[in-house]
Amino acid sequence: MSPHLNPTDAIRPTHVEVSLGTIAQNFDAIRAHVGAAEVMPVVKANAYGHGIVEVSQHLAAHGATCFGVALLEEAVVLRRAGIKQPILVFGGVVARQIPEFIEHDLMMAASSIDKMRQIDDAAAVAKKKARVHLKIDTGMERIGVHWYSAEKLLEASLTFPNIEIAGIYSHFANSDAEDLSSAKEQLARFLEVLEFYPKRGLKPPQRHIANSGGILQLPESHLDLVRPGIMLYGVYPSRETRQSIAVKPALSWKSEVVYFKVVQPGNAVSYGGTWKPDHPVRVVTVPVGYGDGYFRALSNRGQVIIRGQRHPIVGRVCMDQFMVNLEWGTAYNGDAVTLIGDGISAQDVADWAGTIPYEVLTNIHARVPRVYV
Ligand SMILES: *Cc1c(COP(=O)(O)O)cnc(C)c1O
Repeated sequence: MSPHLNPTDAIRPTHVEVSLGTIAQNFDAIRAHVGAAEVMPVVKANAYGHGIVEVSQHLAAHGATCFGVALLEEAVVLRRAGIKQPILVFGGVVARQIPEFIEHDLMMAASSIDKMRQIDDAAAVAKKKARVHLKIDTGMERIGVHWYSAEKLLEASLTFPNIEIAGIYSHFANSDAEDLSSAKEQLARFLEVLEFYPKRGLKPPQRHIANSGGILQLPESHLDLVRPGIMLYGVYPSRETRQSIAVKPALSWKSEVVYFKVVQPGNAVSYGGTWKPDHPVRVVTVPVGYGDGYFRALSNRGQVIIRGQRHPIVGRVCMDQFMVNLEWGTAYNGDAVTLIGDGISAQDVADWAGTIPYEVLTNIHARVPRVYV
């Protein structure tokens, strides 16, 4: 928990406010929707900017039974923070990391017989059982054994005495699209791979493929477990995604007016002189910049809220500050400035900056204090 319980107590005039209660509500909404499937909260990239330790501890206390991260290091942070639940690391495993995975009892993704042999050897040395999820590539072409050559891997996976195959999974490339034909094709390929188990009279390990897009748009993809990331934080993966589960944004980004002035006609604002007024205007300065992860691409494109009104960013966003045109509006030093929240969504900021809400959230720099409410 941050020592700054009250936003106004934050030392910096800029902070991110995170509602852990809202994240828990979103988690509950997902749980209610997916029925029997287990929900694996995805907390990689500092829980999409929300704070990996705070979010995970809150969800663990709220009943989360497992977690998903991208990196070994993120999983170790969770273990050090006292998270006892199973943790799956999605990323590929480098041989030298294997002993650390086993030491911390972390679940690894494996997609080759070679890697499994290394894992099996390391587990034998540690005198522990290694837990592995087989990773099947059904069309993302990122990591995993191709669906059309997976059978040999599944066959081999049954033979390692020191490995427990805890799961088998794949990942969607287009589940947030309006046209779901490619996601459906991926799911069909995955289900075909899974036929391996009933054909041999075996019970399959835990089967999973659904990210937020799959959870929202393809109920048939929920299988045994779902892996919500962005929707856990109350943000939909794209404008196109069907909002079949109601979730609420958990994060807002606030700053304050630190300077007020009138800019005279013809005088350019900020680096490069990309904007100048043709009449006298009131301009305020906000102490946030691209060094905080507020994109420079928002120069002359983004908007913020001051005193309930939207106002445009003028001139270039600097590393630590940017300017806002109030025209004839009023603002005083210390007035709140909302960058995200109060009707400005992470998706809005993404649209202005030419990116996706995932990048908006994960880009918020560590130097911006997080305040938990
Ligand atoms: C990031 C990630 C997720 C979560 O994706 P969202 O679109 O944020 O829900 C799920 N599974 C894997 C393997 C991931 O890397």
